[in-house]
Amino acid sequence: MNALDSERIGDMLLAAGWEHAEKEAEADLVLFNTCCVRDSAEKRAIGRLTLLKPWKKQNPNRLLVLCGCIAQKDGADLLEKIPFLDIVIGTRDYPSLPALLERVAQTSERLAVTEHIDSQIPDIYIPRANKSLSAFVTVMYGCDNYCSYCIVPHVRGREVSREKKSIINEIRALAKSGVKETTLLGQNVNSYKDAESGADFADLLSGVNDISGIERIRFTTSHPKDVSPKLICAMANLEHVCEHFHLPAQSGADAVLNRMNRKYTRDDYLNLAARIRAEIPNVVLTTDLLVGFPGETNADFQETLKLCREVRWDAAFTFIYSVRPGTAAAEYSDNVPLEVKKERVAELIHLQEKISAEKNASLIGEILEVLVERASARNPRDLAGKDRGGRTVVFAGDAMLIGKIVPVRICRSTAHTLIGEISSSPAHQITTPDTQKVML
Ligand code: SF4
Repeated sequence: MNALDSERIGDMLLAAGWEHAEKEAEADLVLFNTCCVRDSAEKRAIGRLTLLKPWKKQNPNRLLVLCGCIAQKDGADLLEKIPFLDIVIGTRDYPSLPALLERVAQTSERLAVTEHIDSQIPDIYIPRANKSLSAFVTVMYGCDNYCSYCIVPHVRGREVSREKKSIINEIRALAKSGVKETTLLGQNVNSYKDAESGADFADLLSGVNDISGIERIRFTTSHPKDVSPKLICAMANLEHVCEHFHLPAQSGADAVLNRMNRKYTRDDYLNLAARIRAEIPNVVLTTDLLVGFPGETNADFQETLKLCREVRWDAAFTFIYSVRPGTAAAEYSDNVPLEVKKERVAELIHLQEKISAEKNASLIGEILEVLVERASARNPRDLAGKDRGGRTVVFAGDAMLIGKIVPVRICRSTAHTLIGEISSSPAHQITTPDTQKVML
């Protein structure tokens, strides 16, 4: 989401007459878009910004701007803390950035603008400079779920959906400029609702599916409590919607899920995963897991490992809990020692890597449909792309294939990558029931 915000802020500044600088030394303006979802991200952003003190001192007419979640959270306090910072701008105040830059350039004021956190962001069309095959598109802002560990509702505001027709128009324009794959973004896309037409997220997927030139549609993120049978059915039936469901579980212990305010149980999650797998052949299921939440006992952690063995996600993003001031969980005692958190996350990663490696190995011999994105970072003679499940596939091929969808037969695999060769036969994947078990 932050990557897209940065891209859109760049688009807005280009439309206002600014140009991209290649290096900091050439820049008249440096803008930091920040994340505060974890303590480490916040420290890194402030540390990096502080390094620009000599840059600003060299030429006081240069402008330094901090935006994103840290800006929304700390507002004007940041101007006091960082005396060479010019503008602090909140997560829903970006549209006023060009005007604020002009004002600050003329008056040398220092400004913090963060008051519109619960407002609708004006849906003004700004041309996109994106020249790649894939594009993120925001479908909704904010979140109403208030998971007890999460800072997002406090810094991104309440849920607001964009108009369906604006989203469709934006994706049509992207398709005309050569985009083949779009990822629809929101903190919880399953609660999308178009105020004008009443369309829900499944209806939106159906509308995007009809746009000529868009060959792949992805979305993130989904809250398990809001996944509807209609959405699963849409995924199963819409030709261009990819078979990849990112479904954050966070924990396998009911007591922890309850304290996290996640509003589902491990059984709910297991039933949902089973239903998705039954209706969408070859679906790739991925997740987020949070380890060391306040009060997480060893028995709770064992439940998370057990859930991992039962669901057998294709991949998982694993995180260590860190307290976020202002959230409900900040009131709980953060009583799991850091060493224990580290041991638990290492054990979880070890188990998940084993499962991911097994699942990838089961694809050897299959022919997958790969959207070729780029030359491989490891070997420029190889190409890299993604299959419909979002898995990275590497194979030898001519750079002319970049941007095309090609069938690749999988020959080898690791926990994170599939390695193959171009196939003369079209893509096909045999659906095998996921019955393998892991013993660790
Ligand atoms: S649904 Fe996601 S963004 Fe919203 S509060 Fe929960 S974890 Fe945060």
